[in-house]
Parts: sequence; C-alpha cells; structure tokens
Amino acid sequence: MPKSEVTPNSPRVNKSVSAKPSPVELHIPIKILSSETATGSNTPSGNIHFREQKGDFQRLRTMMNSLLIVLFFALPFISIDGRQAILLDISQQQFFFFGITLWPQDFTLLAWIFIAAAFGLFFITVFWGRVWCGYLCPQTAWTFIYVWIETRIEGSSNKRKQLDKASWSGSKIGKRSTKHLLWGLAALLTGCGFISYFIPARELYIDILTGNASFWVTSWVWFFAICTYLNAGWMREQMCLHCCPYSRFQAVMFDANTKTVTYDAQRGESRGPRKRKQETNLRESNLGDCVDCNLCVEVCPTGIDIRNGLQYECINCGACVDACNETMLKFDYKPNLIGYMSENDLKGVSYSYWRSPRFLGYGAAVVIMLIVIGLDLNSRSEIQLNVIRDRQSLYRETADNKIENTYQLKIRNKTQDTKQYQLAVDSEMPFSLIADPIITLAAGEQVDYPVTVLADKDAIPSGRKMIQFSVTDVKQPSQQVSQETGFFSP
Ligand code: SF4
Ligand code: SF4
Repeated sequence: MPKSEVTPNSPRVNKSVSAKPSPVELHIPIKILSSETATGSNTPSGNIHFREQKGDFQRLRTMMNSLLIVLFFALPFISIDGRQAILLDISQQQFFFFGITLWPQDFTLLAWIFIAAAFGLFFITVFWGRVWCGYLCPQTAWTFIYVWIETRIEGSSNKRKQLDKASWSGSKIGKRSTKHLLWGLAALLTGCGFISYFIPARELYIDILTGNASFWVTSWVWFFAICTYLNAGWMREQMCLHCCPYSRFQAVMFDANTKTVTYDAQRGESRGPRKRKQETNLRESNLGDCVDCNLCVEVCPTGIDIRNGLQYECINCGACVDACNETMLKFDYKPNLIGYMSENDLKGVSYSYWRSPRFLGYGAAVVIMLIVIGLDLNSRSEIQLNVIRDRQSLYRETADNKIENTYQLKIRNKTQDTKQYQLAVDSEMPFSLIADPIITLAAGEQVDYPVTVLADKDAIPSGRKMIQFSVTDVKQPSQQVSQETGFFSP
C-alpha cells in the first residue's frame, strides 16, 4: 500500500457515507459527530470534564491566553497624551485609539481595520487552521480560566465526574458554592474590564467599588458579568459548536497544505492496548503506534476523538498532541502520532505556499487593506468643516448696492489640543468675509459659526458663482480643510 493511502479501518475514512469516496472526501475527510456520538469526557449531566494536560503546546496556549487576559485588563489603564489608550466614549461620540481620535465620520477607517483583521485571520487559517480558536479566542481563554478554578476547587476530571454523580451533601454544596462564588467574581471583574473600554477605567473601578456607579453603568457591568458566567462557566464548548460562525466556515479556507491537529492514522492503526517494551510482539501482531490509551480524548475540551478525523468541533488547542506525545515517550515511540500536520505532510508530498491560490489571494487582500488604511490615515484631517447655506433667503441686497449671502459653518477641532484656526473665503472675484477670521476651539469642540459673504453688485456676474471656504490651523498650516459652496446674486 502506498504511504499516502489511508488504511481501510482508518478513522479518517467516513464509512457511513459511501464505499467509494468523492474527491472532496479524499482531500478533507470530515466526520460530523453529534454531541451524542462524541466520545469525550461527557458525564450523564452532559458536562465535559476534561483532564488537565501539560506539554509544549499547553505552555504556549497558557502563555498566549495569559497575554490576552493581561492586555484585556491592562490596556484601559495605559494613558497616551493624558488620555486612556483605548476608550470608546459613546456619549461624546469620540473614540480614542492609541493617541488617534476617531469620530463617527471616521467609521470607514474602522471598517477597513475590521476587514483587514478578518482577512488576516483567513490568511493565518490557510497555514495553521483554527489556531485562533485554540490560542487567542477570548471564549477559549475564559473557559480555561473557569476550568482552572473548577479543578482547584473540585479536583481532577475523575473527581469532578464523581462529584457530578454524587448526591447532594455538605461537602458537595460547599465545593459547588465556592466554585460559583469564584466564577461570579471572575465574571464581575470581566464585566468591569469590558465596560472600562467605554468609561474611563480609573473612575469606573472606584465607582463600582464604592457603590457610586450610575444605574446604567452598574446594569451594563452586570449584563456582561452574567454573559461571561454563562459563556465560560456553563456553555463553554457549546458556544464554539453552535454559536460561533467561524467554526462553521473555517474548513472552506483549508487546503491540502493547512496544518491542523491531525491523527496519523496510517501510523497509528490498527490501534490496541499493549504493555510497554512489547515492540517485537507488537510488530508481529500488526498493531500500529496508537496504544488506545484514550488520553487524547480525555484531555479534549470539546469532547471529541481526533482519531475520527477532522471535525468542526476541534479548536486546535493541541491538548491531544501533548497527551499523545507523552504516551509516545513512555512507549519509546516517535512523537507526533497526533500533531499539527497537513494532508500533504501525511502523504509526504512537498509543497510551496507560493503556488497556493488561497495564500496569494488572502495575502494580497491583507496587503491591499493595509495600504488603504495607511492612505486613509494619511489623508485624515484634524479639522472638520461643514458649510450650510442659509435656507431662508438666497441673497440680500443692501442699501449701498452690495449682495450678501449668509452661511452656517460647522467647524470641529478633532484633536485633543486647543487650536486656533484662520477662516478665509477664496474666489477669483472680489468677495469679503463679514466675521472674525480667527476662531479658537477647545479639544474636540464643535461650533456653529455664522458668516456673511459680501460682494459689490456691479463687480460680480448675476446668477450662481462658486466660492470656497477654508479653515487653516494657524500653527500648523498643513492642516487645512476647505469646502465649495454657491454664492447667489440677482
Ligand atoms: S481534538 Fe485535540 S486539538 Fe482538537 S479540541 Fe480536542 S484536544 Fe484540542
Ligand atoms: S493519546 Fe495517542 S496513543 Fe493514546 S489513544 Fe490517543 S492517539 Fe492513541
């Protein structure tokens, strides 16, 4: 049998579909397991109590998750130019983002950033499958915190399963109450952390601790706390399985070169238990490297058996990789019976990402988005100007034979400093401005500034002429905005 083929009894083959697999099945064999058929560490109550696992990938995952959690709580306490680094001030309609102030008018920039992030995620998925889910997704990070708390209070996965089955006693009530109390505290802290992106963090925590927070602020903190408690404490993998759209469509981005957590069925099958140092008998009895210890299943947070092939429930956390490597070490076998491998890795086929249309397509999309964001940021003005004509009358004639048009200028200082602006009206014809040309605006301030433009009736042709208002930063003339409008005369 060629090395690239999968053995007939390999779990990578979905026997229930047909004896003659379609080309799609040959490339990405997916076996859909319902929660009933999943062979994980489910208890009769439906909870999955997975074993804690140590190993290289778990260290990496813990490090990434810890970094995410530390950043989540710490970012609102970082100040840049005296302002919170990230603050979405909805009441003032200002968004502070690392020294840049964004206004609702800048939403196109935010949209570009989100689109670029989405394509970045797709790009990474082409290489590494669902690493986002396993290593950086907040749902996974918070679930692992909650499981960590649960393990400290209720013990190992076996003890937790026994506690589930045990009838209610003083000890069970004590453990469960302590666990839920700690889950509740973690949830409240998370609620505060989330709201601190909308309300200055230093004020928020003090107000919450002293009970001085407003009704709405307190309600929102509780709302997010309850969501966290339910998500990370109760729903856990159900969120990934039933609510997250990414788990449903991520397989579309996979190709034969995508490295994802995979069981090497050709090497592992036929699986079977054995004693250590039974190598000779093992080979004679045609057993593969899988000793059927079931550890890969017991450590799986979504309760699946990766030996059944690629499944959408797999969040690529690598726990089964570490567990299996531990077993392989004990039996003195090569590591990576389960590992981050692509279909081509299993077949021993060499490949180049440069020939992958997905790699090139997503990569090009990310680069284009970054260029668009750069151009958008570069062309962003720090002044906002909106010219509105007086709707009551097109023009007025004065006693001294002049024509007047009036306008309302909405000028906003989009920076976080007080600014002085020079107002001017530009045209080839002799127009003059009846208003103070110097305007001082505080940080973020917007004014409605009424101005009148005047012209000699004999010096301008009749009908509509175009004029241009401009507002220039006195100290920084490169910061200038202008807008054209019409001037009417009889
Ligand atoms: S199959 Fe392995 S990588 Fe996938 S979720 Fe389960 S333990 Fe994590
Ligand atoms: S951990 Fe490895 S050896 Fe044990 S059952 Fe899973 S695949 Fe087989």
